[in-house]
Order: sequence, then structure tokens, then C-alpha cells
Amino acid sequence: MTTSQKGLAETNDVLKSTQAVIRTALEKLGYPEEVYELLKEPLRTLTVRIPVKMDDGSVKVFTGYRAQHNDAVGPTKGGIRFHPEVTENEVKALSIWMSLKCGIFDLPYGGGKGGVIADPRNMSFREIEALSRGYIRAISQIVGPAKDVPAPDVFTDGQTMAWMMDEYSKMKEHNAPGFITGKPIMLGGSLGRVTATSKGVAIVIREAAKKQEIELKGSKVVVQGFGNVGSYLAKFMHDMGAKVIGISDAYGALHDPNGLDIPYLLERRDSFGTVTKLFTNTITNKELLEIECDILVPAALENQITEENAPFIKAKIVVEGANGPTTPEGSRILDERGITVVPDVLANAGGVTVSYFEWVQNNQGYYWSEEEVERKLDAMMVKSFNEVYETANSRRVDMRLAAYMVGVRRMAEASRLRGWI
Ligand code: GLU
Repeated sequence: MTTSQKGLAETNDVLKSTQAVIRTALEKLGYPEEVYELLKEPLRTLTVRIPVKMDDGSVKVFTGYRAQHNDAVGPTKGGIRFHPEVTENEVKALSIWMSLKCGIFDLPYGGGKGGVIADPRNMSFREIEALSRGYIRAISQIVGPAKDVPAPDVFTDGQTMAWMMDEYSKMKEHNAPGFITGKPIMLGGSLGRVTATSKGVAIVIREAAKKQEIELKGSKVVVQGFGNVGSYLAKFMHDMGAKVIGISDAYGALHDPNGLDIPYLLERRDSFGTVTKLFTNTITNKELLEIECDILVPAALENQITEENAPFIKAKIVVEGANGPTTPEGSRILDERGITVVPDVLANAGGVTVSYFEWVQNNQGYYWSEEEVERKLDAMMVKSFNEVYETANSRRVDMRLAAYMVGVRRMAEASRLRGWI
């Protein structure tokens, strides 16, 4: 790594940038320094090594993490990602973001997150199963329905959750559906969970568009990423009458000013959200982000909107479907240019909200209809959006800082009531 590359990696360290916003939010709320000291890092981070017998007979040892940010409010909650670029700091930042989401949405949880450095796109079904089971065995002491409840994230899905739930249930010698959310319906999953994150993003877009008097019908939408969040979001926007003029995956992007055929693309994408490989007339992800549009939704990975491309973004509203897609500098530039950014911890919390519904249903053993899930999700998205929007207006801060202020307060208060600070 050259010095300049290292410099860039450090400035884009998602943990550091999150800590800076947490600090400002706590200062604005008048909390003393020790509250920041408690909340700046997870309470617990476990690093595990997972040996997996590969199909060719060799053994590959994977490294994984589970971070539990704060459990003052309740058990920790958050997804598990399998990705070659997972780092410990990323998992820590992701666990803090989960605490903020749970705080903003009043869910009875603190934040947690897991990650394994692995590329499931290059692994067989059997190898992914062995890795999923191995990871759960490795972290089993610190997780459980009343301790820390995992869920899907980047490159993990219902099948991964099913293997993990089965492994945990075997170890504990009882069926434990409440151990993990995002399960297939057959194994206690909730109706509406698969599309919950994107449905939540669509609701937030609807509310943000109302505030800015943007008519969604006929509006131009660009979505970066065609995985669980991006693909269904493109579908929901398409169904709402918007023109989805750009989408992308890890390999390239598609652009059609007249609107892409989203139902066709959905049909053709693979389980990792890859679809652009089928086309030759692709553009780059960089070009995609700079397309003129009304609503831009980064729904892929971190650090996509930076100081380098933020000056060239031509959207009216940026809604963060991914976790951490905008660097602090990128955010500042968008703000200065009058582009509203609806932050990740508000925009994409529909996933964990329906995960909470799933856990409640598992604990009750009584299951809700899809309409009930969607009605409750809609109400919670609107309530949280309005609370953050009003905080931003009354405190004269951007929506990210407002969301952090709303989210951090509950953790701080719960920690104080427990006598920790
Ligand atoms: N991985 C999702 C997120 O980042 C969902 C977490 C959950 O459902 O617990 O919010």
C-alpha cells in the first residue's frame, strides 16, 4: 500500500467517521465526555478463526468477527456479512449503526454486527454451509435469542440463516427460531422480511419527496447495487410509477434515460445481485453515480460517494440504502450543494424493524399477515422519518446528525439508568 492509498483508507475509516458524528451528537445533546467513551466502541468484539474443509480436500481457515455495541436497552441485534473486504473496524462501525437504527425506531435492542472475510461468489453451496455453521459454533457463547440476535446482510440470505439457526438449535438441544431473523417462512421467518429493507427505503423516499414536492410518478431514480436492497427497491420505485433509469452491480452499470425494464432485470439477476454481465452496453459505477436524476440510492457498499464524486452528483435527494455509502467529506459537499441526504440509519432500518417483528412472532409462536407487517412497518418508517426531519429543522443540523441525536439518546439514557455512567 502506498502512503497516499493508506491515507485514503484512513480518511475513509468508517469507524472513525462514525465516532466523530457520535461525539458531535452527544455534545449537541449536552452529554459529558464519559458517555462518548462508553459509546465510541462496541462493549465486546470477538474475533474467530473458522476452519472449513473445501471441496478440493484442502482446509481453508476464515477469519470472522462479532461486535456487540451496547446492550443497555436489550439484546444486541444485527446482520452477518460474508465479504472479502470485511474488516474489524467495519464490523465495529456497523454495530454502532445498528444501535442507532434500534434507537431511532424504538426497538428493544442494542446494536450488533458480524462479518466473515470470505467471498461466497467463489464458494460452493456446501462450502458456504460449512462456513455458516462453523461461524455460529465459533460465536455461540455470546449469541442467543436474549443475548444477541443475528440476521442477513451483504451476501447472506434466508438459506444462510436457516443453516445458522439449525446449528444453534442442535448445540442448545432445542429448537430456537428466535435466535436469528431473516429465516425462510417455513422455519419461522416473517412475511415481508425479504423485501423489508427496500420497502422501508421506498417509504422514506415517498416521505422525502413529499417534503421537497417531487412528484414520484415519472421521477428519475438511480439505484447503485442490485442485491437484496437495490433490486427490490428498483421494483418498488418502478411499481410506484417512477422511471428507474440506472442500476448497477459489482461489475458495471446499466443506463437508459427512458427507464429500464426492471421486472426483466429482476428475473435475470443471480442470488448475489449480478445482472450487468448479461449486457455489453454497460457504463461504470462511477458514471452511474453522476447521472442526472431526482433520487439517487446508493444500495451497495461503503464509501461510494466521496469528496471526489460528490461535486458531480446531479440528484435532488440521496437516500442511503446501503450502510455508510457516503464519506463525511462527501456528505459535507452534498449538504453544501443543497442535496438532501437521508442517512442510512434512518433509510435502511426497515430490515431490522421487520426482523424485530419476526423475533416477536417467534417469541409468541403466533404469526402475522403480510398486510399487518407492512402496515406496522409503514407507520414506524413515517414516525421515525418525521422525528428525524423535525429534529434536523429545530436543531438546524443535517439529517445525519439529527438521526444520530435521536438514536444515541436512548442508549445513553438506558446506560445511565442502569448506573453504568
Ligand atoms: N443487516 C441489516 C441491517 O444492516 C438488517 C439487520 C437485522 O435485521 O437485524 O440493518
